Amino acid sequence: MTEYLLIALALLAVLILGGLSLVVPRLRRRPEPPLPETEVDTRAEEDLAGPPVEAPEAELTTGILVEPPVVAPPLEVPEPTAGRLVRLRSRLSRSQNVFGKSLLGLLSRDHLDEDAWEEIEDALITADVGIDATREIVDRLRERTRVLGTRSATELRALLAAELVNALDPSLDRSLRTTGKEGLPAVLLVVGVNGAGKTTTCGKIARVLIADGHSVTLGAADTFRAAAADQLETWGGRVGAVTVRGAEGADPASVAFDAVREGIEAGTDTVLIDTAGRLQNKIGLMDELGKVKRVVEKHGPIDETLLVLDATTGQNGLEQARVFTEVVNVTGVVLSKLDGTAKGGIVIAVQRKLGIPVKLVGLGEGADDLAPFDPAQFVDALLGTEPLARDA
Ligand code: GDP
Repeated sequence: MTEYLLIALALLAVLILGGLSLVVPRLRRRPEPPLPETEVDTRAEEDLAGPPVEAPEAELTTGILVEPPVVAPPLEVPEPTAGRLVRLRSRLSRSQNVFGKSLLGLLSRDHLDEDAWEEIEDALITADVGIDATREIVDRLRERTRVLGTRSATELRALLAAELVNALDPSLDRSLRTTGKEGLPAVLLVVGVNGAGKTTTCGKIARVLIADGHSVTLGAADTFRAAAADQLETWGGRVGAVTVRGAEGADPASVAFDAVREGIEAGTDTVLIDTAGRLQNKIGLMDELGKVKRVVEKHGPIDETLLVLDATTGQNGLEQARVFTEVVNVTGVVLSKLDGTAKGGIVIAVQRKLGIPVKLVGLGEGADDLAPFDPAQFVDALLGTEPLARDA
């Protein structure tokens, strides 16, 4: 009897287990409960903002955000450099007010007495020409007007223009050494204090070189300012120049070294190195820039060292500039932000004080707002002696 009972119980157990095995998978296959909403409830905002913007289809069906494919923007074709200073001449309108309006106004007076000459001197000093250069310009102008007996406004204007051009020493070589020797790239070092416009200038120069048919490698050796490398990479990317960069805070000298090596390996024409301009003191700067220079020169000599100076800092910037010239062999000056000052005469002062040619001038934040410097065109623009080019 007990045996029958045990068999019956065993059968019952088999039946129960069999039943469960049929039910459990079904339970498992039941749709899972919806995940908790992670999006912010924007209903109140929707009421204010009107109908919701439709989400992309992928998001609706899978709940996963699909990034749109990254399509590289087409490379930009930079403007040719020839004639840029003429095109950008209206950017000098602030300086033009001092030179063109006030100076020419003074010179066209009926009688040029002592007071008038003093006013002319003041106008030039106000325009940051510098005291020595101003005295020289005014003395020569006085002498020539006396000897020539010049009176007409047109003639006086021509004489003033000639003296300003002369003060800018048109005989100086302002070409950039951008072609290397023996199949190696030319190496350009860009130095200057922070904020002067170094990174922007590097980007603009890369465009100038590419516009002129060169290939360029950029070196982001300003490893102290977090955004500098990104900024440079963006400039380079727009025109197809590769940017060599290190980790944030990396040794600037090693980044500069790597950039030149990359340039050599890739066979580019020019390597442009952006540096940091922390001007704590001369020793610190010497340590940092001096090391960059030494390490880069393991590959070969540096062809050009450009000092970027902010024109709006006027005479004050000149002292800082001098420190750089003592640390590295500066071969050319880039005067940035000339569009932002009425003191265009700083070009004369810079050249005279540093004895280094101004090779390029920055005339705006736009990508092609950098022009090769030309004394005669610059003076024409300052004096407004030709009709203004149509330029925004
Ligand atoms: P860095 O710290 O020396 O590398 O300086 P940046 O290249 O970052 O430039 C500092 C600021 O100056 C940026 O806002 C630039 O757009 C601006 N800048 C550079 N060159 C010019 C110029 O020629 N004209 C004007 N108006 N702004 C400029």
